Amino acid sequence: MQQQKTLIAAAIAAMDKAYAPYSKFHVGAAILAADGKIHSGCNVENAAYPVGNCAEASAISAMVLAGQSKILAIAVAGAGDELCTPCGGCRQRIREFAEPETPILICDTKGLRYTTTLAELLPLSFGPDNLS
Ligand SMILES: [Zn+2]
Repeated sequence: MQQQKTLIAAAIAAMDKAYAPYSKFHVGAAILAADGKIHSGCNVENAAYPVGNCAEASAISAMVLAGQSKILAIAVAGAGDELCTPCGGCRQRIREFAEPETPILICDTKGLRYTTTLAELLPLSFGPDNLS
């Protein structure tokens, strides 16, 4: 579908904006929010390594800044032989704004490599419903 292609293209485009002078590992993420708009983010490293931001976290921040709080789909793009899946922390960050069946599109610079869901990446997750 066209919307998926646009989402993937946005994640790949975000890779180019990454600030990754240490790892040289550029990651881009793009979220399709409930308003139909795409919110992108890239990884932002820091000389004090632990305070760097993942691309998914940056995209979530952009989405929240735009007044949105529902992820309908998210694409993550990174290079390399291995699939560039969200790290453990980002799986939980995504959970805050997404349902278990929310599609997660794993991409590289050429396009879509693998489609999964949040439930597959973070089974039996703890989320906002646990606190309501
Ligand atoms: Zn992460």
